[in-house]
Amino acid sequence: MPLPAGPPPNSFCYVIEDAAGDVHLIDPGSDLDSNWALLAGALHAVGSSVDRVASITATHLHPDHLGLAERVRAASGARVLMHAAEQETLDWVVAHGPIVPDYRAWGVPADQLDTLIGIASHRHTAALTADALIADGDVLPIPGREIRVLHTPGHTAGHVVLRDVESALIFTGDHVLPEIFPGIGLGGQTPDPLGDYVDSLARVELFDDHEVCPGHGHRFLGLAQRCAQSRAHQLSRSDEVARILTAAPDASVWEVAKQVSWTDGWEGLRSFRLAAALAQTHMRISFIRGHDTMGV
Ligand SMILES: [Zn+2]
Repeated sequence: MPLPAGPPPNSFCYVIEDAAGDVHLIDPGSDLDSNWALLAGALHAVGSSVDRVASITATHLHPDHLGLAERVRAASGARVLMHAAEQETLDWVVAHGPIVPDYRAWGVPADQLDTLIGIASHRHTAALTADALIADGDVLPIPGREIRVLHTPGHTAGHVVLRDVESALIFTGDHVLPEIFPGIGLGGQTPDPLGDYVDSLARVELFDDHEVCPGHGHRFLGLAQRCAQSRAHQLSRSDEVARILTAAPDASVWEVAKQVSWTDGWEGLRSFRLAAALAQTHMRISFIRGHDTMGV
């Protein structure tokens, strides 16, 4: 399912047929007319239709995963399922509006301010109330299948990974991705999203014999190895930020971010990716300086 703009590329909507011939979706994708048509066509191609969708489970609240859920629910009567922490964050953002970072205090140069503030202000979250909340250890209500919920906070506070026990498939959402490393602390207010993320990697890497169905990229084998790479990436980047801060304790978020060895280089970061890089840097600085982080 294409995203309206910016990386990462297309998200995956997974379709699971149950014993009664109904279908269940994991992460329906971004709310675009073209995606609606794409989903209807894909369901038709497998001999089903939108009105056969019985449940929609969101791995997390981001619009490229959850966006289309309300439309599918309206057309099908499907039940929407998500973790309680995601519902809490959605409700908070709907009540208070998007969090626009204090980019001036972060040391962002004047010529970049408008673009970045624009991106943060337009990050729109639609109101959505789940029909049921899911928690760690639950089995999804999919007749004939045993799909278990693993609570994996880190990317967001209520992120879940879903494991199809018999098929040995694991739906990792944005927790573990084959081509990129996910941002951390991008939903919900928790004191230590990075610590949560590392703990959550330890929970899923046990299922190394499973085929990974991630939220973006491609299906892959080698979950434990990818978890190890994800952990190493996050920890080494935190170490890097800590080293930069040791040399320049009063550096602004912008000054620190400029010195981080970004995969595509600092100069290559623009608009959405620049905003994400600054948010990740801010999260690490706050953690190192002993403050709580807040990112939605
Ligand atoms: Zn996400």
